[in-house]
Amino acid sequence: MEFSSKLLEKAVNEMAQLPGIGKRTALRLVLHLLKQPKEQTQLLASALTQLREDIRFCSRCHNISDEEICYICSNPAREQSVVCVVEDIRDVMALENTGLYKGLYHVLGGKISPIDGVGPSQLNIPSLVEKVKSGAVKEIIFALSSTMEGDTTNFYIYRQIKDSDVIVSAIARGIAIGDELEYADEVTLGRSILHRIPFENAIKNS
Ligand SMILES: [Zn+2]
Repeated sequence: MEFSSKLLEKAVNEMAQLPGIGKRTALRLVLHLLKQPKEQTQLLASALTQLREDIRFCSRCHNISDEEICYICSNPAREQSVVCVVEDIRDVMALENTGLYKGLYHVLGGKISPIDGVGPSQLNIPSLVEKVKSGAVKEIIFALSSTMEGDTTNFYIYRQIKDSDVIVSAIARGIAIGDELEYADEVTLGRSILHRIPFENAIKNS
């Protein structure tokens, strides 16, 4: 791609770093921004800068938060002893949208995937195991996507907590979950967490 301006080229190249954005789309977006009032671009730029500067992760569940403890963990109306294990923040949003889940979350930050070079040490697993071993958790609900990586991750965690005094369940499969939790519709997802099954059964059936 030939550019008539170095500034334009730089902006397009940066935009094209985003996932799913090729150079042509990047160019279209940059040209769009140029057509908008200057303030619009400034709002976007400052929102992104502020996000990177100020964003925090909840010290209990690792969800993205503006505070040290997120609004879910600090809500006394939530069932503090039920913890739903999810891959990332989008899953929290999807489950929250169902309005049916009243427990807390634990965001792993990914799934164990040797192919992608993701091992257990890169995920928020130790803090989960610690939480369970502290006795503060009555039930753990696995809600990872039903892929091989999701299964591997569930099982890895399960092995470390199975001797603790905790109920281990998994969201009902088959009713619901496709590859990614966030794509399941709200009703189906809500149902699959309400109708969760013992984790041992989930292993047998898969
Ligand atoms: Zn939290």
